[in-house]
Amino acid sequence: MPTLTKKQQDRKKSYLENRDEQIKNSIEYHKKNRDTILEKQKLKIECECGSIVRKHEISKHRKRQKHIDYVNKHTQQADNKKTEKEQVKKLLVEALELLQKLST
Ligand SMILES: [Zn+2]
Repeated sequence: MPTLTKKQQDRKKSYLENRDEQIKNSIEYHKKNRDTILEKQKLKIECECGSIVRKHEISKHRKRQKHIDYVNKHTQQADNKKTEKEQVKKLLVEALELLQKLST
């Protein structure tokens, strides 16, 4: 085991000293805010797919088929729009080249 520097030793000591205190504080916090925490967990939010989901269940919900289908459809639409734009751009460039050819 590598020997610790004085600084590291101090840090380790203060960590160990504070650890119990911090754990106690954390438990205290949860006890005090139990209702708020539970209330927050019950809070329902609207997902981008339109589903109403409990906030703490959103990560679980995002793995559901319904949500995945929506995301797939949505990204496809965005892709289509992108290619549409690119096609228009390409057409414009071609038209411009044609105009230049005609004017010379
Ligand atoms: Zn969703």
